[in-house]
Amino acid sequence: MANMKKLHTFSLWESPQAGMFKEMLAQEGISCLVKNDRLSSAIGEIPFIECFPELWVIDDEAYPRAHLLLDAWLTPYNNPQAEEPWICPVCGESSEPQFSICWNCSRPRE
Ligand SMILES: [Zn+2]
Repeated sequence: MANMKKLHTFSLWESPQAGMFKEMLAQEGISCLVKNDRLSSAIGEIPFIECFPELWVIDDEAYPRAHLLLDAWLTPYNNPQAEEPWICPVCGESSEPQFSICWNCSRPRE
């Protein structure tokens, strides 16, 4: 029986990307879900962070790999000068460097 494990609590500036990180982990074969304590107040978390989404790994055996992946994705996100945005060759949209798929058409970055 797998245990769920909390991977990350998104900060205010990261929270709009919570769903995208969940999809990116799914593409790596890691099942996750996003909890927002505003929608699950029964957990009894600290009210101050209740509006910040949390990313949970459904199978805790995948946690170490999920943690490494998320760290790699979040590092440039919190250091925006580290890399330039990249242009999707299919739809021509510009994606932020921390994302490995196009935000618009989900094409993997080359
Ligand atoms: Zn695209």
